[in-house]
Amino acid sequence: KKLGWAVVGLGKFATQQIIPSFAECKRSKLVALVSGDRPKAEQYARQYGVNPKNIYNYQNYDTIRNNPEVDVIYIILPNALHAEYTIRGAQAAKHIMCEKPMAITVAECQAMIDAAKKAGRKLMIAYRAQYEPFNLAAIQLAQSGKLGKLKSIVSDHGRNLDPKDPADRWRANKKLAGGGSLYDIGIYSLQATRYITGEEPTEISAMMYSTPNDPRFREVEENVNFTLRFPSGVLANCTSSYGYSDTKRIQVFGSDATLELDPATDYYKHRLTVKSKNGNEERNIQEQNQFALEMDHLSESIMNNKQPKTPGEEGLQDVKLMQLIYEAARTGRTIKV
Ligand code: NAD
Repeated sequence: KKLGWAVVGLGKFATQQIIPSFAECKRSKLVALVSGDRPKAEQYARQYGVNPKNIYNYQNYDTIRNNPEVDVIYIILPNALHAEYTIRGAQAAKHIMCEKPMAITVAECQAMIDAAKKAGRKLMIAYRAQYEPFNLAAIQLAQSGKLGKLKSIVSDHGRNLDPKDPADRWRANKKLAGGGSLYDIGIYSLQATRYITGEEPTEISAMMYSTPNDPRFREVEENVNFTLRFPSGVLANCTSSYGYSDTKRIQVFGSDATLELDPATDYYKHRLTVKSKNGNEERNIQEQNQFALEMDHLSESIMNNKQPKTPGEEGLQDVKLMQLIYEAARTGRTIKV
């Protein structure tokens, strides 16, 4: 059995990654589209076999409540719209998958969690790395003691913001994006430290820098470097950038061995190496479609009435920590969480 999914927002990520990935799902099928652009929605409906009667716009979105074919709504809109469309979706009695970052403020995240709870529906944040086999293998290695005692994590996520790409235009707009590189891509570095350790940070320090007079960074930040202290003694150093060339890397340093995931959070390409005094060993892991795995995880959580692995609370925690990272950078103080 497959649950019916509606995709909200037909932008770059939705059309290039998510919609094609339904073909590899076992428990999820695309049945509806929500878009402000009717001809575009009709074109994707034709291409992916969606009934044109299941095309909605942002005005009649709430009437999706009356469509029994739709079980789950997947929000793939600019960050500032996540809260509104999640809450309206929950009020339409649908389960919700919401893209990262969950929302702009902690208060919005809490309102989203409350709306899903009130409606008796599941809310999951699309943290794909937590469903991706190379990252799962890294978590297993780090938490099983295979690296010895964990000492340090270094994680770097960045790319060049490209004003020619329409998907990057709202990312330079503070109102729509909520933040700069940290909210968009540094969040992967932050996530990595939390899922690798399985712990929550207790202290945060940070520095920020944006190139003066670069029009891309009039409203949002370019670079954020932050350090986190974890209860077990692990210290993490993370970078986040909209100005350095494509990097998606996680390194975990244990007393016996070091693990390197590079690329760590790519869409279709990963590499996991364990380095120790016995030499370097590249792990042979089968690539799988992480988008299909994460969508099926929510469908299965709904079918079995279980809490998904990355619920709203997981998204709220990152938004809370990112706000503290900004505060640490702004004040120059080490912040206790
Ligand atoms: P995009 O700009 O390509 O897509 C956004 C869509 O929202 C567009 O189709 C746009 O027309 C529509 N939209 C509706 N109302 C809008 C408004 N008021 N202003 C601007 N656009 C509006 O962006 P994207 O890269 O697809 O990102 C969408 C979301 O997906 C973001 O939250 C982003 O963080 C997330 N994302 C996640 C991943 C991942 O790997 N998990 C990757 C890329 C993007």
